[in-house]
Amino acid sequence: MKSSKKRKILIAGAGLIGSTMALALASEGFDITVVDGTTAKHRINRNKGRTYALSRTSKNLLTNLGLWDAKRLNACPIENILLSTKRSDTKRHLMEFKRESSDLGPSSYMIEDFYLRRVLEAELIKNSKIQLINALEVIKDETSCFESKVMLSDKSLFNTEILIISDGRESRLAKRLDKGFFKKNYNQVAIVGNLSHKNEHKFVAHQVFLSGGPLAILPLQGKRSTFVWSLPNEMGAKLSKYKDHLFLKHLNKSIGDILDNPALEGEKKIFPLYLRFLRDSVDNRKVFIGDSAQAIHPLAGQGLNLGLRDVASLFEVLLNGKKLGLDLGSDELLKKYESWRSFDRISLATYTDLINILFSNNNVYLGALREFGMNSIDKSELLKSFFVKEAAGEYGNLPELLR
Ligand SMILES: Cc1cc2nc3c(=O)[nH]c(=O)nc-3n(C[C@H](O)[C@H](O)[C@H](O)COP(=O)(O)OP(=O)(O)OC[C@H]3O[C@@H](n4cnc5c(N)ncnc54)[C@H](O)[C@@H]3O)c2cc1C
Repeated sequence: MKSSKKRKILIAGAGLIGSTMALALASEGFDITVVDGTTAKHRINRNKGRTYALSRTSKNLLTNLGLWDAKRLNACPIENILLSTKRSDTKRHLMEFKRESSDLGPSSYMIEDFYLRRVLEAELIKNSKIQLINALEVIKDETSCFESKVMLSDKSLFNTEILIISDGRESRLAKRLDKGFFKKNYNQVAIVGNLSHKNEHKFVAHQVFLSGGPLAILPLQGKRSTFVWSLPNEMGAKLSKYKDHLFLKHLNKSIGDILDNPALEGEKKIFPLYLRFLRDSVDNRKVFIGDSAQAIHPLAGQGLNLGLRDVASLFEVLLNGKKLGLDLGSDELLKKYESWRSFDRISLATYTDLINILFSNNNVYLGALREFGMNSIDKSELLKSFFVKEAAGEYGNLPELLR
């Protein structure tokens, strides 16, 4: 067995969440080791073509860490959001959120994974406080009252005060630790991909609620858009295998005249959809953040934002702990983090779940109820500004990094 190295903080997983966590902590002088089972090139290629709606508070976090550069990130603001339903051939307007409802700039920005990940990977390599270990997994940990002994897949060992786990929605470390979780299968998949088209999108995001699930068309830089189409398993599996022209024919039928002559840019990707939620996100010198703690339905585009809020809160808790000279893996600090995050985690998981139930359902009564509810909200500026604030991530007791 190899001799063990001492490190205050070790992060398992260098996805968007683990990388941002490392950069945030390093900015305050913490020495960090980040371990990922894949190479940087693999992470970039595997996620090419994916996009995210980043909320205003997530943008603040990147700005505060010196990582926000709209040009380098190829960020595209969302100025307007239009919600509609389409059943058979009838499309009905439900609600519109206009930019004017907020004087703080757009509530969110579309970001392509490729640009964001490239910025984060470059910063990880450049940062002298960060040791990045690629192509090795965290496979085991043994925890005593004083430290956690972490083993990597080459059998090397690290002694650390705290192990931060950001190993994604299938979190194998959570399984290994036998963490209790709630899982609900949506029996849906999301097909995602990017499109070029002839018309200007005018920075409008569309969410069309179809009978099988929601379809979002979101603006990217240039005459380009991205789509996230949630569908029942069987239909999704069938559609995802269609040749491009046939797939586009179905897509066009569902979105009507939103895009003029769209063409697929690169490959489309397919994701099974489920809600997976750890009952508690801390465990004896370990803390789960991002998708490893909670994976939610993508219909509100909030999964990454939720994970970035984990990052900002954990950063603040650990920084305060450091200032007070506390053990970073102590129960006291971990419990503080857990109670800070629990309301946001539970409410967003519940809210996305309910919206999906309400809209991916052909029941006539539910249909009438949702249209009545949405139309009522559409008429109230107060309620609308509440929802814009929610989408921007501006609620609850916000950590400094998000302000
Ligand atoms: C269809 C779809 C659309 C979405 N759209 C949006 C959106 O618009 N806005 C938004 O906010 N969110 C969105 N999300 C959610 C977002 O994609 C996730 O929340 C985010 O990517 C999670 O990042 P992560 O770093 O937690 O996990 P991951 O990206 O899964 O990273 C986990 C990393 O851990 C590594 N790893 C795994 N096991 C180990 C191990 N044992 N040791 C070391 N490393 C390990 C992996 O190699 C990987 O690099 C969407 C999700 C889906 C499915």
